[in-house]
Amino acid sequence: MAETGNTMEKIVALAKRRGFIYPGSEIYGGLANTYDYGPVGTELLRNIKNLWWKYFVQKRPDMVGLDGSIISHHKIWEASGHVAGFADAMVDCKVCKARMRGDHLVEDYLEAHADELKDYTDKTKVFEKPLTKEVVDAYLSTGKVEGLSNEHYDAIIKQHTIPCPTCGANPKKDNNWTKVRKFNQLFPVQLGIVEGDEGKGYLRGETAQLIFTNFKNVLSSNRVKLPFGIAQQGKAFRNEITPGNSIFRTIEFDQAEIEYFFDPEETDWEPLYDEWKKRMNDFVTKELGIKEENLRWRLHTDEERSFYSKKTEDLEYNFPFGVKELWGLAYRTNYDLTQHIKYSNKDLSVVDPQTGKKIVPHVIEPAVGVNRLMLMVLCDAYTEEENRTVLKIDPKLAPYKVAVFPLLANKEELVKKAKGLFEDLTNDFMVIFDARGNIGKRYLAQDEIGTPWCVTVDFETLEDEAVTVRDRDTMKQERVKIAELKEYFAKKLVQ
Ligand SMILES: [Zn+2]
Repeated sequence: MAETGNTMEKIVALAKRRGFIYPGSEIYGGLANTYDYGPVGTELLRNIKNLWWKYFVQKRPDMVGLDGSIISHHKIWEASGHVAGFADAMVDCKVCKARMRGDHLVEDYLEAHADELKDYTDKTKVFEKPLTKEVVDAYLSTGKVEGLSNEHYDAIIKQHTIPCPTCGANPKKDNNWTKVRKFNQLFPVQLGIVEGDEGKGYLRGETAQLIFTNFKNVLSSNRVKLPFGIAQQGKAFRNEITPGNSIFRTIEFDQAEIEYFFDPEETDWEPLYDEWKKRMNDFVTKELGIKEENLRWRLHTDEERSFYSKKTEDLEYNFPFGVKELWGLAYRTNYDLTQHIKYSNKDLSVVDPQTGKKIVPHVIEPAVGVNRLMLMVLCDAYTEEENRTVLKIDPKLAPYKVAVFPLLANKEELVKKAKGLFEDLTNDFMVIFDARGNIGKRYLAQDEIGTPWCVTVDFETLEDEAVTVRDRDTMKQERVKIAELKEYFAKKLVQ
């Protein structure tokens, strides 16, 4: 455990040192659960987004894109259920003012009593009312105790004298906890000068709702027919109190969501669902190059799944801080469109031009946070070798494909030649130029940001028009003619 905690700290340190991820608002003391992406992280995030778009939109005849507004009408979120239901159970410590989630407090308590839970019986100390068998069973199968009532959390915290993890205050001795209450995660925004609900909007809590509200627009302005999907990437906002592991859980994040619309009488949902499952898996393993053994699928239990969903699964990844949700796949029936029909009084159904049949299509929804994909890529690629740390990122994803060095920074003819080569390569690839320090140090810096190839211009180059190319993973060097360099890299990038 100490070992894995250490790995995460090292990855976070590298991410900051090399310009992937910075803590948000750092010079003003930081702002919890926010992060900024540095020059190298920006490239990686963009590469993941572009690869996702290419795989799920560009290469498919049955998919179109959308870019909805971040600020949106309050009614969208009333219809979607977010205003009423998108809430966490919060509790405050009156002694140290720490705010935390009631469910997490109970989960941490159960984790600390894992030994007693192994073969628990009615006699086990932790297995007492109000920590009922149902709650313990749900915890053992999902690691979660979500969805209980405020009163139920209050009772568990009191009965089991769960202390404050921040200051150690004890509910029996210090009466430190406030009552558990629901805290809505949507960010309201007040628009213009209009008071009250008329001027009220929300930062979107997910990108998906904009797909539903634009469904009719897309249908009438594009030559699409069922089954087809609408894809969207963009920011979503959730007022999360719980600190995440680096960018795993943040209040502002990049989503990549698809709603795949179909007529359940024409298309069987089960094979369609399995097809999406396979696509998601293939994208992660083949496009992002993630190791298969670090992935697993987990089916949501009946209690966990939304009442309108027929099936929901999470693709999970084995992060250094535990196996966690990466990508959700849900068959949501036609719940969302039906809700928007009800709240907007607009007809959002599809009419078959041949038969005249009118339906409200069902959807299958694959939804992922791109930042979480990025954290997975960093964790999966992080490799410590004897004399170096290397990010073995798939070359397609690498922030820079090539680094160009002049052997010596003080030899004008070498610098000039290397700069010329850099400029030429930038027409085709993301390239970085480095003339600082010695070659060994430059290699180490490029290894830490996952640059697959380093090119050195030396004195021989001036004679033979060839350069030394060094491979990140094998550290082998070979001589390549400058004229053949672009093709050399292009070939390797499609492998
Ligand atoms: Zn406290």
